[in-house]
Amino acid sequence: MISDRLSAVRERIARAAARAGRPPSEVTLVGICKTFPSESVRAAAAAGLVDLGENRVQEAEAKIAATADLRPGLRWHLVGHLQKNKARKAAALFDRVHSLDDLELGRKLAAAAADLGRRLPVLVQVDLAGEATKSGCPESELFALLEGLRGLEALVVDGLMVLPPYLDEPGQVRPYFRRLRLLRDQARERGLLAGGELSMGMSHDFEVAVEEGATLVRVGTALFGERAPHSQV
Ligand SMILES: *Cc1c(COP(=O)(O)O)cnc(C)c1O
Repeated sequence: MISDRLSAVRERIARAAARAGRPPSEVTLVGICKTFPSESVRAAAAAGLVDLGENRVQEAEAKIAATADLRPGLRWHLVGHLQKNKARKAAALFDRVHSLDDLELGRKLAAAAADLGRRLPVLVQVDLAGEATKSGCPESELFALLEGLRGLEALVVDGLMVLPPYLDEPGQVRPYFRRLRLLRDQARERGLLAGGELSMGMSHDFEVAVEEGATLVRVGTALFGERAPHSQV
């Protein structure tokens, strides 16, 4: 039952927050429902989940449309890589984008948000492991990117996101989470961020992320169950 899984995850977040001396209310649980049908969204919403995340614009578009009646009470997050030609659609569909990693993409998102008369909250995804196959702004280019984004009035750039390499032992990812927090603090000191959000932590390491300061955890499997093979991405 999703309601049991939801309470179990919330309880684990609360305990991790307590270990770090943080109020659990600082942590928003984003349920990543990719590959699961709109019925799963309905069940999760009925159980009290407010924030939902998808990693593909097209899949999200269909699911958001199928659950439009719930929309006033839900917030949709884009957590996966965004292609420039989908920026317009993304700006219309999502309440927050976690995966901005390029100035040109930022300009496109900002133009689309401005046309819609809205300001879109976005996080900059940082590639801390130098994994060429993954998206994310290289750490060495982060501050320059944030400088460039500063002029885009229709974007609210209020934090950072990381998708660290998968490591068997959750504790092994702790240095990545620490690093992201440090970069956030440095960016804030330079006046480059409008907020202090940290999107980090997934099903197998969200407790470590909360201990290290996560304000948004992206949890799929632990809430919705295992995804079908070959539909992982
Ligand atoms: C799928 C996905 C998640 C959730 O992964 P789980 O391991 O199932 O919790 C989180 N973040 C991103 C970017 C994802 O694509």
